[in-house]
Amino acid sequence: MRSKLVKVEKMEVVSQLAASISHEVRNPLTVVKGFIQLLKTPSLSQDTKDRYIQIALDEINRAEAIINDYLTFAKPASNKVERLMVDAQLRKVVQMLVPMAHMSSIEIVEELQPAAIVGNIQYFQQCFLNLIKNSIEAMPNGGTLTISSRVHGNHVIITIKDTGVGMTTEQVGRFGEPYFSTKEKGTGLGTMIAVKMIQTMQGALHIQSEVNKGTTLTITFPKAAN
Ligand code: ADP
Ligand code: MG
Repeated sequence: MRSKLVKVEKMEVVSQLAASISHEVRNPLTVVKGFIQLLKTPSLSQDTKDRYIQIALDEINRAEAIINDYLTFAKPASNKVERLMVDAQLRKVVQMLVPMAHMSSIEIVEELQPAAIVGNIQYFQQCFLNLIKNSIEAMPNGGTLTISSRVHGNHVIITIKDTGVGMTTEQVGRFGEPYFSTKEKGTGLGTMIAVKMIQTMQGALHIQSEVNKGTTLTITFPKAAN
């Protein structure tokens, strides 16, 4: 059984996010550059110029939106935090992924006990969407996905268990590393963002995985005061 407790240092997180931003923003910037170069073409009609300028502005807006998305994670102090029920939020996320699970004949088991934490709902949903999606993708030939939540002392414990391909020790070690992906069309950003969000909500992530047996992620958050 491979096991690892994920605790990424803050500096590392910041540099990971910087890497993501530059990667994601490169596409719109390339488009902007292309259209500005086109604007240098002699004898362009005013109509054409206006169109090129609008495209460039739209792409700049897109780049700005991407930067805002990533920098929201980098500034946890500015995030809206509220009391949230993890069972209800997990149910919502699972609901979104039911069609994807059905395509691979995956059985979903929910063992959700009511539990409250304090955090940002969007982060919570994004985080668990990324993690549960990976579990489903780890079972292309079917299997069982078990999602549980429970209160234990002052903590809320969430587990995401799959009976999928599992991970080697090296892969467990690289979990959360930006651009690390074993998938043909993977981004390698999902776990990085999830880990960052768990940290933002004062949580901890523990990974247990065995090749060809499956993976269990255990995420622990401080329980919200009653
Ligand atoms: P992506 O899903 O785009 O590959 P992620 O950051 O979401 O990027 O995941 C990174 C890598 O971590 C995956 O490519 C996979 O190798 C591994 N991984 C994550 N979750 C699981 C899981 N439940 N089972 C097996 N491997 C996993
Ligand atoms: Mg993923």
